Amino acid sequence: MNNRKRRVRFAPSPTGPLHMGGVRTALYNYLYAKQAGGDFILRIEDTDSHRFVPGAEEYIIESLRWCGIYPDEGVDKEGHMVETPSPGHPHAPYRQSQRKHIYRKYAEELVEKGLAYYAFDTAAELDARRKEAESQKKTFTYNHITRNELKNSLTLPEKETERLIAEGNWTIRFKNPENRVVKMDDMIRGHIEINTDTLDDKVLWKSADGLPTYHLANVVDDHLMEITDVIRGEEWLPSLPLHYLLYEAFGWEESRPAFAHLSLLLKPDGKGKLSKRDGDRLGFPVFPLKWVNQEGEVSRGYREDGYYPQAFINMLALLGWNPGTEQEIFSLDQLVKAFSLERVIKSGARFNPEKAKWFNQEYLRMRSDKDLAEEYAAVLAEKGIDTANYPKGYLEQLCALIKERAHFVNDFWEISRYIFMPPIEFAESDVKKFCTPENLGNIAKVAAFLEDMEIPQAPCNDKAGAVASIEERLTGYIKENGWKMGAVMNTLRLFFVGEARGLGIADIVYFLGKKESLRRISYAAEKLQPTVQ
Ligand code: GLU
Repeated sequence: MNNRKRRVRFAPSPTGPLHMGGVRTALYNYLYAKQAGGDFILRIEDTDSHRFVPGAEEYIIESLRWCGIYPDEGVDKEGHMVETPSPGHPHAPYRQSQRKHIYRKYAEELVEKGLAYYAFDTAAELDARRKEAESQKKTFTYNHITRNELKNSLTLPEKETERLIAEGNWTIRFKNPENRVVKMDDMIRGHIEINTDTLDDKVLWKSADGLPTYHLANVVDDHLMEITDVIRGEEWLPSLPLHYLLYEAFGWEESRPAFAHLSLLLKPDGKGKLSKRDGDRLGFPVFPLKWVNQEGEVSRGYREDGYYPQAFINMLALLGWNPGTEQEIFSLDQLVKAFSLERVIKSGARFNPEKAKWFNQEYLRMRSDKDLAEEYAAVLAEKGIDTANYPKGYLEQLCALIKERAHFVNDFWEISRYIFMPPIEFAESDVKKFCTPENLGNIAKVAAFLEDMEIPQAPCNDKAGAVASIEERLTGYIKENGWKMGAVMNTLRLFFVGEARGLGIADIVYFLGKKESLRRISYAAEKLQPTVQ
């Protein structure tokens, strides 16, 4: 088994948008496979037609593509599930609903071997049993004891069994062995043992759907697709004994994959599973991409919220895994090299939305000013601002300055909109505070001073020098006159921005240029009446 090429799979059910926990499962599978030079396979587990949601499969594929963890097998380059076998995709189709014809014989093989049986109990009958058990504060399980009193091929005469099978309303259930200890190994949790007497005889096949259930299809496909390692969410841990028993029942123990069950992602307060509702309540996405359900309800996505996929992936990788060092920033390639299941934590991983933003900020700062300028130009275009009117390099210099204050490119607008749009209105409380006759008088003199000052056109090569020089001359002038620095600067800011906050005055003057700075001062001075001090 150790000599086999590593083959892992991500096997989501298309029941809705992929939760970020699901993306993490896919990511860990990807990292594990790539580190070993193996294959990452996508299989769509859609045997439960009642839970099928249109668009979910496409969403899953697009999410993996956005994250840069695209499967080697199962899906083609255009994003379609492969339906017929080809050299790169020998096990097609990879959608379980298209593999229907494969599973039946496996279910029947188990019946023939005496390891599974037909059951004919109706849903109503089983419900009645459940209620009865509940009334005695017990839980009903279809097991080695109750199976002897229920309607199945173990209790009914052969003829009756045949008649009921022909009638067509049956299931095939796994016959758990009695009082046996199943010994299992999990790559994260270590050795686990469980007595079969505690297990349910799970349904493997439903005649009503003409389809296998998750357990049978999953195990058969993992075997046929030569999967070497199964890495999945811990909600599947209770199914592990059954899966072990199924490998044994089919005689496939030699090639049974190794298993690893990942702990849950927890709410920011650590109390319970991270859900979409937490995201809505606390204002962060829990899905990689935006999703609109059939009722038209919109769920936000990391992509649409302005996250870089690299930041999202980096953040997810560290939610439950740690490198054993202080390093936090990892490219996908670095993750492939550093990842190990041994360093995946057993306990739940608490999601921290602030940390997610921090990761994006780190990636934003690592981007070149040229890339940021391109991204910001797209945001500005949406606001109706054509950046073609600005000289080359202008936006780069602005981005270099404002990226220090932002988590996302979308924040750039809030930080610097006034560079592109002169204020028309002014914040009332700031007007009250700063438009004293004294300040207004001083600003008029500052305007005259600026008029005579030599201010280079942005962008200039020595931007730092230009800004420092504006700053020096302006503050020097204010000091010389003995005016209060804060009052004059904030009044200027109010005139340039519309409120008394924003970038440094020298930076604003540099980016606005002399003409526009003076124009804004004269507009504001005309519009704002002095307040009595
Ligand atoms: N279809 C299962 C799911 O939706 C796959 C579980 C597994 O990986 O075995 O998560």
